[in-house]
Amino acid sequence: SPVPHWLFGDQLGPHFLDPARGGPHRDAPLLMIESRSVFRRRRFHRAKAHLVLSAMRHRAAELGSRVRYVKADTYREGLREAVGDARVTVRHPTSHAALALVRDLPSVQVLPARGFLVTHDEFRSWADGRGTKSLRQEDFYRWVRQTHDVLMEGDRPAGGRWNLDHDNRQPPPRGATSLGVPAPYRPRESDIDAEVRADLDRWERDGDVAFVGEDAPRAFPATRREALAALTRFLEHRLATFGAHEDAVLSQDSTMSHSLLSAPLNLGLLDPGECVERAEARWRSGEAPLNSVEGFVRQIAGWREYVWHVYWYFEEQYRASNVLRHHGALPGWFSDLSPGADGAHCLSSTLDQVRSTGWTHHIPRLMILGSFALQRGWEPGAVTDWFHRSFVDGYDWVMVPNVVGMSQYADGGRMTTKPYTSGGAYIDRMSDFCGSCRYRPTVRVGEEACPFTAGYWNLLHRHRERFERNARMAQAVRGLDRLSDLDALLEQERERRD
Ligand code: FAD
Repeated sequence: SPVPHWLFGDQLGPHFLDPARGGPHRDAPLLMIESRSVFRRRRFHRAKAHLVLSAMRHRAAELGSRVRYVKADTYREGLREAVGDARVTVRHPTSHAALALVRDLPSVQVLPARGFLVTHDEFRSWADGRGTKSLRQEDFYRWVRQTHDVLMEGDRPAGGRWNLDHDNRQPPPRGATSLGVPAPYRPRESDIDAEVRADLDRWERDGDVAFVGEDAPRAFPATRREALAALTRFLEHRLATFGAHEDAVLSQDSTMSHSLLSAPLNLGLLDPGECVERAEARWRSGEAPLNSVEGFVRQIAGWREYVWHVYWYFEEQYRASNVLRHHGALPGWFSDLSPGADGAHCLSSTLDQVRSTGWTHHIPRLMILGSFALQRGWEPGAVTDWFHRSFVDGYDWVMVPNVVGMSQYADGGRMTTKPYTSGGAYIDRMSDFCGSCRYRPTVRVGEEACPFTAGYWNLLHRHRERFERNARMAQAVRGLDRLSDLDALLEQERERRD
């Protein structure tokens, strides 16, 4: 009889079971293990714990008698209880730790990964073939477009250009408080959600686990049906406006035209291939402009794939990279998502949003939360852990490159050509936060000094030697010499307490 197959909680879509794509036998009995110790290790956002448990239990309910659902303290215990020493198969898991665990279990056979467009072998041959050239996302993305025939016209990119970022970096529409696009899909909770909520309440009451964040109604898909409804709603009502203001932030419109598909994609409820193909079809049928479709395709076929592969391609110690030698601890208010009243408006508003939803779009993650952590010199590993536990879509594979590499520049530039950080002027240009903030983006020193503006110069000063050698940073570093109040600014930053 077929060997049982173990499904991790982020392998929930039907494509993980397809025998034609490296999956288990069509009649293989299935096993799912809900491990309580996962939730004890970190103080997760409650919305994240809820979403993951809800998605697993919904999948188990759908699979009915084909699945054995085990609640155990650890994966090892769950496996022992379910199958003893008998053989099982499992898809390549999504973290180094989980891969080490399954490789360490002699009875477990690892099947090829699923849930991405490019296989490990394909990436390896692309990356190895580049010799000493660095592994830039833009080069990788163009290669994916060509080899997977995405948005191509023969051997040329659709519309003649690979990169339409230039059209997609517009500030928010002047004077608007919202983009005015139809709202994203939101699911309706089921009995399973009520059960999950009761369990989480009980675990908290028993002092077994602790969470951060608000326990609002579930806002992200937990089933394949919900995930498809979310994808369709995005494609039909929001994709056309995705591009232009992709990098802009509005305090009253947190979702703007973003897809909110990262959570269902990372749970394995959607396949990236279907997202990309269906987005391309909207352009081909004239229902969405190229800048929006290319912008969205770049996020999925470019960034998401790239991040997944560098996670595995770089050695495991990558997570401990810390070239800037940042060792600061995260202050309690940041860890607990409870900003005080005297914070910059952009920062407290973004933290409020994380507390109430476990989600923000890319620019608040990168240019507000991440940039602040970088300027303050917090330990990159601790920042990674914070993002991982606070965001509904956070998983090790996606957090490590995005935080260590992209946002904290702790890898010294293996992923990005320069650190992503800015003074208040960028935030002012790209958002509507600064008008009602007690600080002023142009002020560097004194009561009204914007923490981002002062923090930016302070960071450049601290790492002057390193950044001077970076062609994309050299000019900014030279700006330090023009600051007449640099000494006062450095003194102020030394005294500033988090
Ligand atoms: P959209 O703007 O609609 O983009 C479409 C899709 O592209 C996303 O759903 C996502 O699947 C993919 N995508 C875009 N950029 C990235 C990227 N850099 N890495 C991986 N996928 C990407 N994304 C996560 O999925 N999980 C995370 O834990 C996560 N942590 C991040 C931490 C930091 C510091 C930064 C800078 C980025 C992080 N991202 C993460 C990437 C990105 O911010 C989110 O994927 C995105 O904001 C999710 O919202 P959305 O689905 O509306 O995205």
